Amino acid sequence: MTVADAPSPLPASPAGPDIAALRARLLEWYDRQARVLPWRVGPHGRALGQRPDPYHVWLSEIMLQQTTVAAVGPYFARFLEAFPTLEALAQAPEEAVLGRWAGLGYYARARNLHACARAVLALGGFPQTVEALQALPGIGPYTAAAIAAIAFDQPVTPADGNVERVLARLWRIEAALPAAKPAFRAAAARFDGGARPGDFIQALMDLGATICTPRAPACALCPWIEPCGARAAGDAETFPRKTPKAARPVRHGLAFVAEDGQRLLLGRRPPKGLLGGMPEVPGTPWRTEGPWSLDEALPHAPVEGAGWRVRGTVQHVFTHFELVLVVAHARVRLPRGSFSCPVDDLDAGGLPSVMLKAARAGLSAGVAGKPVGERRRT
Ligand code: SF4
Repeated sequence: MTVADAPSPLPASPAGPDIAALRARLLEWYDRQARVLPWRVGPHGRALGQRPDPYHVWLSEIMLQQTTVAAVGPYFARFLEAFPTLEALAQAPEEAVLGRWAGLGYYARARNLHACARAVLALGGFPQTVEALQALPGIGPYTAAAIAAIAFDQPVTPADGNVERVLARLWRIEAALPAAKPAFRAAAARFDGGARPGDFIQALMDLGATICTPRAPACALCPWIEPCGARAAGDAETFPRKTPKAARPVRHGLAFVAEDGQRLLLGRRPPKGLLGGMPEVPGTPWRTEGPWSLDEALPHAPVEGAGWRVRGTVQHVFTHFELVLVVAHARVRLPRGSFSCPVDDLDAGGLPSVMLKAARAGLSAGVAGKPVGERRRT
């Protein structure tokens, strides 16, 4: 899409210095201030001819979807420990990949990551163009452009949330997110085609992450302070404009934490759908009608005749709804050969975050309520 095609208000000619001057100022700043990131070859390395490993760039971009740089760092390191190369990832069993992904959420991404590694291996390496990258599993238009620019210096300028914020402020773009995405892509495309595209897009990302922050941007340190429209108007924090969000619906469930003092009983989610194929703390379906009482939930308990007690409630926010889980606990005799993990090393179970929360709440000290559902001795 070109600027002329943009459906939302975007200044026809940018205020302040021309695009080449904006690029030059930002690259000068990046040469001094670039963040050191484990998947990045910084400007000095690039100047010496070093190039980033496309496997690292791709992996980081997939992990960074919906997650911050600070949160991704340790996961990235652990992932590379287990799968140091694309070949190692492609040849690993899916469960091992999901296990290393546990905690990052959005598990469809981990499945696509695995499928993508296999597809890239079959191709003999990563393709370099946006179009060819976008044809791979789990790679959308933004990620394809980010990989193309960062790993292969293709002259494209993808706009993530940080970049959108900077551009919205620079040019005081009035269009409101999320409908304004095309306007932001058009604004970013103004920068396509200059020198050092990989460094430039990373500079723009760094500027948004470290200086042009959502709250209290540090304009005094910004290389674009002079041309910035929102800074001049004194309303930077009001950009990007946003359409108010509808409240998330709430679903309710009850999770049964069953353990024998050593091991926690686990189940596995159905292969399709939310958290598909992941380990879980067994429980009821999730419904919108309201909370489950323990009596009502007992037919879904994984062990009959246990003395279940409610130990609390945990909440978890998914993209499209909020989940409230009542957590019940019982000490049981685990069925022989049952799927389980050690109670003192829950990470070994590869549980997704919501299930880790439920397991911890169930295993924590402090028992509330009378035991329910215990089989009486006669
Ligand atoms: S001057 Fe301030 S608001 Fe404008 S781009 Fe820089 S940090 Fe953001």
